[in-house]
Amino acid sequence: MEHILQKIKEYNRIIIHGHYRPDGDCIGSQVGLAEIIKESFPEKEVIITGETSDYVSFVAKPTILEDESLFKGALSICVDCATSERLSDKRFVLADYSIKIDHHIPVDDYGNYQYVDTTSPACAQIITEFYLKFKNELKLNKKAAEALYVGISTDTGRFKFDSVNSRTFQAAACLVDNGVDLGYIDNQLSVETLETLKLKGWCLSNFNVTENGFAYIKMTRDVIDSFGVSDEDAAAQVSTISTIEGCPVWAIFMDYPTEIRIRLRSRGPIINKLAEEYQGGGHAKASGAKLMSWDQLDGFLEKVDKLVKDYKENN
Ligand code: AMP
Repeated sequence: MEHILQKIKEYNRIIIHGHYRPDGDCIGSQVGLAEIIKESFPEKEVIITGETSDYVSFVAKPTILEDESLFKGALSICVDCATSERLSDKRFVLADYSIKIDHHIPVDDYGNYQYVDTTSPACAQIITEFYLKFKNELKLNKKAAEALYVGISTDTGRFKFDSVNSRTFQAAACLVDNGVDLGYIDNQLSVETLETLKLKGWCLSNFNVTENGFAYIKMTRDVIDSFGVSDEDAAAQVSTISTIEGCPVWAIFMDYPTEIRIRLRSRGPIINKLAEEYQGGGHAKASGAKLMSWDQLDGFLEKVDKLVKDYKENN
């Protein structure tokens, strides 16, 4: 962390990158870090480059930086992204120096320097701890505190996942002390459109369960279109089937034009190894992967069903 602070001090322009299809932790970490640097070193130019997420657009709406010349002489910091391939703006290679700050199991050590803490349930927790470590030199404004709080609360399922540790609450306490409006954030994250709520009803009536207890939703394009919801809202339905007794692993299969994205979750077996077999990866209990067509579905179901069976036999 000392090295990161030293590099921030060294550079006048700092560009902060996130991953594609960003979530609350990605945007929260980008905005939180950007605001800490801006507030602490007002003379520095801080730019966020990346995609927007509708779900957390109340935090900020990033766009991809257009002027490529700005990378020259800059420091790039990439947050919440295990592989350079998943960055929405991969031009950190054009910067003078680049740093990766992440909490995923490392897949690709991109950048000149990596700070990875897999014991942190959210990248935003690492950024908050960075602030706490250098509290005498850094400043945290309300915007940074709210962005980081959104990051931590979304990546921990609102402080529920077993990846949460006492440091998570220490980080959250610091953010609340710095002005987070808890009611406002909860409202922003909880309110759903009528269309999304109706889609949730469809998911509850149409999910499938394999022989040994893998629950899944097949979110085909016609279903998404018929409910008139965004892909992001449709993909979020993975949590709708998270609490079924006897189903410790669950997923949503999202139909995209060039791939079927799998959002895989567990409250028992380790799933990231299976995800890696299907062009994916992630955390032990929250991973993502891909099928190239629906023809691959049966093969995947067989493997995940066996994983659940083995887990049940041994636990
Ligand atoms: P998601 O289901 O997209 O929320 O992803 C869950 C976790 O898995 C996140 O921490 C992602 O970083 C990771 N992940 C998702 N898709 C991939 C992928 N194709 N390759 C590697 N990691 C992934």
